[in-house]
Amino acid sequence: MADDRRAEREALVDRLTDRRDLSPATEQAMRAVPRHAFVPSDRQAAAYDDSPLPIGEGQTISAPHMVAVMTDLLDADEGDRVLEVGTGCGYHAAVTAELVGADPVYSVEYHDSLAREARKTLRKTGYEAVSVRAGDGREGWPAHAPYDRAYLTCAAPTVPAAVVEQVRPGGLVLAPVGEQTQTLVRARKRADGTVDRERHGGVRFVPLQ
Ligand code: SAH
Repeated sequence: MADDRRAEREALVDRLTDRRDLSPATEQAMRAVPRHAFVPSDRQAAAYDDSPLPIGEGQTISAPHMVAVMTDLLDADEGDRVLEVGTGCGYHAAVTAELVGADPVYSVEYHDSLAREARKTLRKTGYEAVSVRAGDGREGWPAHAPYDRAYLTCAAPTVPAAVVEQVRPGGLVLAPVGEQTQTLVRARKRADGTVDRERHGGVRFVPLQ
């Protein structure tokens, strides 16, 4: 696909890195993924604004700075197996694939129509090895567990137990937690299965269905 919007994307990522320290891997991933390819046709003009955008079914693609912050906190390396809950348009999954490779990314999306559309876009953009399943992400995706990392792109009242269950000891789960007010929580799973939680500030995500 012709990447005719690289200059806009570079300018966006320059603004992001002016405002906060991003790891080199996160910065590279943000520079690589063509966000406009994931954004609906009627929102193309805003594809490189640092803002969330509607993607259908009442859902939104997160603002680029939020994807960057989450990518940093996920702290994933090449080859790590990652579970994503909330594929949406597939953009965040593609950013994750830049870090770990597309093969080990498993993403669950509640809405069939979004899952189908995301698969199509991931194929067009070269991330077809990312696996997308339509279903309830609260159950995780047991067939591919254990995961080194897991994250939710929708807010849950608590981190779903099945997701924690499917992460290996020493692995990380990242999730917006809460209802009216939400906190980005990063939990490291201990060997005994309990978790060690860190809070990373207030956030606003669509709720888990
Ligand atoms: N990462 C996405 C952001 C999508 S917004 C992107 O880059 O576009 C959050 C997504 O979570 C929505 O698509 C919503 O449908 C999905 N979602 C909500 N509840 C869910 C659930 N229980 N299981 C799986 N996905 C869910």
